[in-house]
Amino acid sequence: MPLLRAEEVSVSFGGRRALDTVTLDAEAGRVTGLIGPNGAGKSTLFDVVCGLRRPGTGRVLLDGRDVTREGPARRARRGLARTFQHLELFGRLTVRDNLLVAAELGSGRRHAARTADRVLERLALTDLADAPADGLPTGAARLVEVARALVLEPKVLLLDEPAAGQDGEETGRFAGLLRSLAAEGTAVLLVEHDMSLVMTVCDTVHVLDLGTVVASGPPARIRHDATVLAAYLGEE
Ligand code: ADP
Ligand code: MG
Repeated sequence: MPLLRAEEVSVSFGGRRALDTVTLDAEAGRVTGLIGPNGAGKSTLFDVVCGLRRPGTGRVLLDGRDVTREGPARRARRGLARTFQHLELFGRLTVRDNLLVAAELGSGRRHAARTADRVLERLALTDLADAPADGLPTGAARLVEVARALVLEPKVLLLDEPAAGQDGEETGRFAGLLRSLAAEGTAVLLVEHDMSLVMTVCDTVHVLDLGTVVASGPPARIRHDATVLAAYLGEE
């Protein structure tokens, strides 16, 4: 049983299907990629997985347990963390305080500071710890969102376009981070438009188009898949 399974998930917005019986797994120790053109339903699937949106049909299983009826906080306590495509930092707090808010929910007040500092160190954000979050360049702000998710020490980590706005060097380091998280056993589910990042770090890639998974497989195969190319035609 995979650590995370979205099973036959459907979501409609006012009669329009955003997701149509989507089944997708994320395994411990692996980076699973989810790609597809804008509007494909990637962020909606994340909302369903983390409990921000109830699916019309289908289930979400975390470690084999049906969590479909649980709220986001409950799922977070079970080891699910995410970042948002549209940055959701607390702009008026410092970088460290953004992490502390989450860390106190996760490891409790006593260990929060230590956990936050350890994650800041790991993501090379220590020098920015006292900077207000709303003044950060996008690349750094994205990394702080990832850091805030990591202080929860998640078993499953959902990343929604984390590399958007990062420069090449930042993305290179970020790729290393994702691989090391997977090596520690985390199930990483990565939504990303940066194809070279996706192809470098993912063990498996799923392609979503118009709310349906149209292709799945190792990056080397997905890169040349005709369905994938068709899904992206007119996009770039
Ligand atoms: P992606 O993240 O792959 O770009 P989204 O999940 O954001 O795609 O959107 C999938 C589809 O659902 C799009 O057609 C989008 O317009 C629609 N959609 C997303 N959120 C809402 C919403 N809150 N209300 C209505 N339609 C929405
Ligand atoms: Mg999106």
